[in-house]
Amino acid sequence: MEIRIGNGYDVHALADGLPMWLGGVRIPSETGFVAHSDGDVAIHALCDALLGALALGDIGHLFPDTSDEWKGIDSKVLLGKVVDLVRGKGWQVGNADITIALQRPKLAPHIPSMRETLAGVMGTGVDAVSVKATTTERLGFVGRCEGCEVWASVLLIKP
Ligand code: MG
Repeated sequence: MEIRIGNGYDVHALADGLPMWLGGVRIPSETGFVAHSDGDVAIHALCDALLGALALGDIGHLFPDTSDEWKGIDSKVLLGKVVDLVRGKGWQVGNADITIALQRPKLAPHIPSMRETLAGVMGTGVDAVSVKATTTERLGFVGRCEGCEVWASVLLIKP
């Protein structure tokens, strides 16, 4: 059996009146993410972790934000394509661990549905997908509610 580890990181700016998508779930919020796609910064970090594990570049390379094809796209579609790529090379997702830094709104009530949604798209058990959320105690750009930061780690397995 072979194993690979990958990590991903992404940031999106917040702006008033935009929809907030995180971990594949619509979060009720007065602010949302400025982006070419739906702005799901958690899925973007997860995609980069999956791609990073196999040294396949990053989502900006795979799905350029200069292309109309990906404008406003549901990031779950991008995640599905990345997982297909990973599977096509004979790898399976072992587990994923995601940390979201956002000052508000509180994400705790949405974490179970994020885990279920991401596990569904990746074809893993829910217990293989961890989503954690933290504020930054009002420090930095996250603390000033200017943006959201996400880190993701994944383990891939080739049986
Ligand atoms: Mg992004």
